Amino acid sequence: MLDLEVSTATLTALFSEFEDAVFITDTNRKFVYVNEAGERMFGYPGDEIIGQDPGFLYASEDDYNKVGSWRVKARELNASDRLRMKGKRKNGEIFIVDGTSGPMRNERGEIAAFVYVLRDMSWRRNLEREKASAHEQLEVALESLSEGFAYFDADDRLILCNQRYKEIYPKSAPAMVQGAHFRDILRYGLERGEYNTGGLSDEEWLDARLAAHQNPKPHPVEQELDCGRWLLINERRTKDGGIAGVRTDITAMKQAEARLKQAELRLRILNDSLPCYIAELARDRTYRTINELGASWLGRTRAELIGRKASDFMSENFLKTVLPYYEAACAGEVQRFIARLPYPDGVTRDVDLCYTPDFNAEGQVEAIFVFATDVTHLKTVERVLQGLYRIASSRQLDARQKIGAVLKLGVDAFDLQNGLVAAIEGNVHKIDHAFGSSEQFRPGETRELNTTYCRKVVETGKPVTVEFGGYNDFSLHMNYEDLGRESYIGAPLVVDGETYGTLCFCSASPRAKPFSDTDKEILRLLSDWIAHEIGRDRDFRQLQEAQAELQRLATTDDLTGVLNRREFIRQADKELARTRHLGRPLTAAVLDVDHFKQINDTLGHAAGDYALKDIARALSGELGTDGLLGRIGGEEFCAVLPNRSLEEAAEVAERLRKAVMTCHLPESDVCAALSISIGVAKALESDSCIAGAMSRADTALYQAKRQGRNRVIVANSENVETLLKPLPVKNMNWGE
Ligand code: GH3
Ligand code: MG
Ligand code: MG
Repeated sequence: MLDLEVSTATLTALFSEFEDAVFITDTNRKFVYVNEAGERMFGYPGDEIIGQDPGFLYASEDDYNKVGSWRVKARELNASDRLRMKGKRKNGEIFIVDGTSGPMRNERGEIAAFVYVLRDMSWRRNLEREKASAHEQLEVALESLSEGFAYFDADDRLILCNQRYKEIYPKSAPAMVQGAHFRDILRYGLERGEYNTGGLSDEEWLDARLAAHQNPKPHPVEQELDCGRWLLINERRTKDGGIAGVRTDITAMKQAEARLKQAELRLRILNDSLPCYIAELARDRTYRTINELGASWLGRTRAELIGRKASDFMSENFLKTVLPYYEAACAGEVQRFIARLPYPDGVTRDVDLCYTPDFNAEGQVEAIFVFATDVTHLKTVERVLQGLYRIASSRQLDARQKIGAVLKLGVDAFDLQNGLVAAIEGNVHKIDHAFGSSEQFRPGETRELNTTYCRKVVETGKPVTVEFGGYNDFSLHMNYEDLGRESYIGAPLVVDGETYGTLCFCSASPRAKPFSDTDKEILRLLSDWIAHEIGRDRDFRQLQEAQAELQRLATTDDLTGVLNRREFIRQADKELARTRHLGRPLTAAVLDVDHFKQINDTLGHAAGDYALKDIARALSGELGTDGLLGRIGGEEFCAVLPNRSLEEAAEVAERLRKAVMTCHLPESDVCAALSISIGVAKALESDSCIAGAMSRADTALYQAKRQGRNRVIVANSENVETLLKPLPVKNMNWGE
């Protein structure tokens, strides 16, 4: 029985709620009380404990004795003590018990009981074991990570890191000892060239790195090592103020990324360096991609085009041409065609176009790839050659019209307003041919060569191009203001090896597209052609002149310039036929110079020639358009007088005779008056040619000579009669 003034009920009320086990023994070391926690701890119900000696709850006798001896000591010292023992549960399980015990006294102050408050310490051991094993597991886990892991405490000292962490920073690894400061590890690696500082000084790099470490970003940061490797660093501040960092080697990813970037760049460079318009259009005709050249044809930047509809930029004409092909491509067929299209940058191009459909996984057309190659040069050359062939083979056009047609070809080929051919002599620029819209240039117009772009062509002997006159230095010297020609292409015209002038084309507006080498070649072709045409025209004219001269030589008499005998008879025969056809008369008059032999003999042959010329001149002058005159022999002439009666003809003959009497010999002592005798006869119905009339006139002439010369004798059909009396001849001294 408990020698205390407390009942079991009180004890129960006191200790039953206790989490710790509470046992009370009496002075005889018998249990007098155990709470529920105590029952649970040892697994015995209270009634198997109460009244028992505690021995059965001890796993070791030593512990039992130790506590027993303490009880004796406690009685003497009146002290409480900590106690540790090995307990033994009802199920035989041994466990560690930690507790306090102390004596309880009665009212008289005597020790009446001992109270033990015990705690099962086995959970703690287990916890420690678990902790140790968790630590082990953590270590294993950390070591098996492919990432480098490090944990620094709030003072930034290394608590732990895995092997991978050391491998990642091989140069810094020796400094990675527990307790090492983060900054010192960094500095150690830095000094050994661990990091790529990206151009920063070591101190700058270190400061930046420490700042980033101290204030870890919510997102990972990348770090480049000096050996070219890349790390992804993910640092987090932990609850206890430390910093846990995970490093992932992303070198392979970075390399792949770089390769991708490189590939993209190459593709972009390829796209941009190809002399080709390349674009990808979605089915709704919005641009997905377009290369730089393509964007420039549209007069926009790439950014302005992506996502916008192609139809927003193209003219109606443009769309009308291409849309049928586009629709066909959307239906899945590759389309290839050549078209001449006005692009939004103001340049009309001949393009070789290809629309290639791009199919998605379901086999539907998702986009169209557009490839366009500028074939303007080829097409222009083709057109120019065809045009030149057409012009060259034309039989309808004369030289002037042909040159005009070539100028039109050039105006179309270069897309300019005017084409000019100018002859250049000294400083004079004279327009020979002009084609085009402007009224400023007319054939025959002249200006000073110095004031024209052509000056440079003449100076260099080579083609000259001006895309924007306003920006051209040599335009300063020209009447640029006056003519306002902004764009110009000109070349020399070399005809038969000599500079003739220039061929040029020009416009009032600046050129959207610079002149190309092909343009210069086309110009050369045109200038060669025009030079050839000018040369040919010149040759042709010379030939015509030569022919005319030849004709003149063949039909006229050299000395006197009147028709020669052959031509005279040919024309007289023709005249006879004509007048006969009209039912009109025709008369022939044969004229012979009197005593001409003596003029030769006395004054010389040259004087004779002079006299013949002067007589011919007098005869022609007198006859005028009344008839034909020819020299039919040495000093014999013949005149054919159409549309006159015989009498009228005789009167004309008389006028002729008188006209000759006004002729004089040059610088001669002999003042010999010249005279002629004339025989006149009409053509008869029976005459088929002029010869009959001439023959009868000749007979009449003979009569005139016989009758004393210097007279006209008319032959009628039957006989020959003197129509007019001869005039008295003065100073005639020819010995008759
Ligand atoms: P007429 O007729 O009065 O009887 O006397 P004529 O002296 O004129 O006689 P004829 O007809 O016999 O002489 C013609 C001369 O004219 C002969 C020839 O020397 C000369 N004659 C012919 N052709 C030319 C010529 O081209 N130049 C010169 N100077 N003399 C010529
Ligand atoms: Mg004669
Ligand atoms: Mg004579």
